[in-house]
Amino acid sequence: MGGGVIRLAVLGSTGSIGRQTLEVARRLRDRFRVVGLAAGHNVDALQEQVREFSPALVCCEDATDALHGDSAFSAAERVSLEEMASHPEVDTVVVATAGKAGLSPTLAALHAGKVVALANKEVLVMAGSVVTRAAANAQIRPIDSEHSAIWQCLWGEDRANVRRIILTASGGAFRDRPVEELAQVTPEEALCHPTWQMGRKITVDSATLFNKGLEAIEAHWLFGAPIPNIEVVLHRESIVHSLVEFVDGSIKAQLGVPDMQLPIQCALCYPERVASPSAFRLDLSRTGSLHFDALDMGRYPCLELALEAGRHGGTYPAALAAADEVAVEHFLAGHIRFTDILRVLKGALAIHEDTPEPTLEAILEADARARHSAEDWVKAKA
Ligand code: MG
Repeated sequence: MGGGVIRLAVLGSTGSIGRQTLEVARRLRDRFRVVGLAAGHNVDALQEQVREFSPALVCCEDATDALHGDSAFSAAERVSLEEMASHPEVDTVVVATAGKAGLSPTLAALHAGKVVALANKEVLVMAGSVVTRAAANAQIRPIDSEHSAIWQCLWGEDRANVRRIILTASGGAFRDRPVEELAQVTPEEALCHPTWQMGRKITVDSATLFNKGLEAIEAHWLFGAPIPNIEVVLHRESIVHSLVEFVDGSIKAQLGVPDMQLPIQCALCYPERVASPSAFRLDLSRTGSLHFDALDMGRYPCLELALEAGRHGGTYPAALAAADEVAVEHFLAGHIRFTDILRVLKGALAIHEDTPEPTLEAILEADARARHSAEDWVKAKA
């Protein structure tokens, strides 16, 4: 890059990670120029972002007449997510979309040799083999806090020396709720994460700990570790973002305040470390004690299911992730109970026919079948 300005495209710019990415770009405006903004439904927020950053490229699923009439918006070229991700004017693509939406633009970016800063974990969960193959001549940098931590622990290390990856989990919104009360919890309660401010889907996935299962699969693809070598430990404070144990028994951990701007900045600035404001500094004497506990797997059957899908490989993870996307949406809409999420997942796996070493086509088929099965389950319930 030779110290030049890095041109960013932000896919999912109005979501939680998208907004925090723009916050980083604002702070480090001498390093980054936002040349592409893509959003789905949050038209007003996108309009404001387009006015501020004047990107050359825009993409909006639900563009309204008002948005079309906006001079900053109409000055930009309207492109698809894939066109934006592979555009010659773009250096780094931040994939901060949710669920399946990120897969095709991620592949487009990788095929075009871009740096992909990946926040959308479903991309690797669904299609890890296809995506890592596509990344042969490109680069994926993780944004998820756990994976950023593991990545940083591995800088300068030989991956053959890794014995174990230890993912930390806060335990989510219901970590202290008696299991028998979980059938009655509301979407509002599920959206109250104890330590992180995040998007809605991932916050619910954190309450079931399904998210941690997705993260194990994501870590498997990013760092080449077999799923059985990836462990999850309960860490309530969300200060230690994950750890790596090496063959000699040494363990490295990465610590920091629980703020997504840090892993985002790390991914965007790599391999440089760039100074950040004092708000991002961790004062260990104020943090006090850090706790680590074994996870009570009985509390988190969705996590077990995700880990099982990860061990099976093939199209299992794609099917499970798709079913979860549908289930969480219906839970948030009040159509099913929190505890029904597990039932939807089990239903989708029960009809799943696995394809080992799947092509992209087989993955998308498994995804579609699982979505159907999940929708059918919810309909039958209503
Ligand atoms: Mg995470």
